[in-house]
Amino acid sequence: MIDFTPSDDQKQLQELARKFAKDEIIPKAAAHDKEGKFPREIAEKAWELGLVNTHVPAEYGGLGLGTLDGCLITEELAYGCTGICTALEANSLASAPVIVAGNDEQKKEFLGQLTEAPKFAAYCVTEPGAGSDVSGIRTMAKKDGSDYVIDGSKMWITNASVASWYFVLAYTDPSAKHKGMSGFLVPADTKGITVGKKEWNMGQRASDTRGITFEGVRIPERYRVGKEGEGFRTAMAAFDHTRPTVAAGAVGLARRAMDEAVSYSTTRKTFGQPIATYQAISFMIGEMAMNIEAARALVWKAATEIDAGRRNTKYAAMAKAFAADMAMKVATDAVQVFGGYGYSEEYPVEKLMRDAKIYQIYEGTSQIQRLILAKEIFDRA
Ligand SMILES: Cc1cc2nc3c(=O)[nH]c(=O)nc-3n(C[C@H](O)[C@H](O)[C@H](O)COP(=O)(O)OP(=O)(O)OC[C@H]3O[C@@H](n4cnc5c(N)ncnc54)[C@H](O)[C@@H]3O)c2cc1C
Repeated sequence: MIDFTPSDDQKQLQELARKFAKDEIIPKAAAHDKEGKFPREIAEKAWELGLVNTHVPAEYGGLGLGTLDGCLITEELAYGCTGICTALEANSLASAPVIVAGNDEQKKEFLGQLTEAPKFAAYCVTEPGAGSDVSGIRTMAKKDGSDYVIDGSKMWITNASVASWYFVLAYTDPSAKHKGMSGFLVPADTKGITVGKKEWNMGQRASDTRGITFEGVRIPERYRVGKEGEGFRTAMAAFDHTRPTVAAGAVGLARRAMDEAVSYSTTRKTFGQPIATYQAISFMIGEMAMNIEAARALVWKAATEIDAGRRNTKYAAMAKAFAADMAMKVATDAVQVFGGYGYSEEYPVEKLMRDAKIYQIYEGTSQIQRLILAKEIFDRA
């Protein structure tokens, strides 16, 4: 039997996250967006309730929940505000390489920090000159005795200024291209690290995004994740775990945009009747409902595959691209339903449209997801 019904435990998680979004996120979302303020207090409350770091295995202090569980939580938090949700969820991306390829000592030290206290971590792959094409990174990690010395610049790093540690991808052997990259765990207080100014982004402004410069940053060999040359594979494997969750965030945003559109369309009248009675409006909302359901089904499929221990790269790419593009379309249509008011920051859909755009860019653009998809289909044909 194929059953789309969450278990009782999963329903409880959903309910907890839904209530948290209603009580703690929604009332504060607009202020965080306006000020671009990092939601530290909200993150601390979420940490106390066990709504973050849920994927960290129990032996390292986490809840050891599955990716599907994480998706259920994320959809609800994102319904509240995706900027705040991204700030809360960025630990998942930073810790995924450690979970995938870290050794026991690294897991104890670095995952343990996140579960012992409400701390943050960041995933540092993108650089000023290289995003989609990861092989274009220029950060180098040179072996020096039993240490590595890291030099380079990273860009667009979520949670850069609040993180206690970073996962950093660097070349150890540039001549070997993808097979010459290695991943490192770098404590944020290591000498030689400079965190840049907060980027004032189009949306998701509660989330902290900055550049980071590494100059002569010395770390011990034991902080290398996996073997030399395995960094690219580890950094990409992390996405199989996190893309379903990111896609779930896009579903949460779209659900919120649709709810706002439904509510507005039943009260706003033109020509003597609510705009919801016009087919042009109700069909737009019907399309929203249909595409939200389709995206959620893909998200759950991608999450269920990896939870079952199967390779989900194809489904994760499908879910991420479909949900991101869907969220952008739904948010844009919600603005349309609101007419002129939709264009004003006095109403919630303007923020939703700004916030939606990043889903088509971070954790691999919508074009790159299609590239992955094509590769998966043709390489395995
Ligand atoms: C708010 C925000 C938060 C982020 N957080 C993080 C983070 O925490 N850690 C991190 O490492 N990175 C992070 N990123 C970086 C993000 O993952 C990259 O911006 C993204 O991967 C795209 O890379 P790029 O910006 O260099 O664009 P480019 O790679 O230069 O791409 C530009 C355009 O060309 C398209 N394109 C590129 N190559 C191809 C191709 N082969 N075929 C078709 N089209 C192509 C792209 O889809 C895009 O439309 C973040 C970015 C933002 C804006």
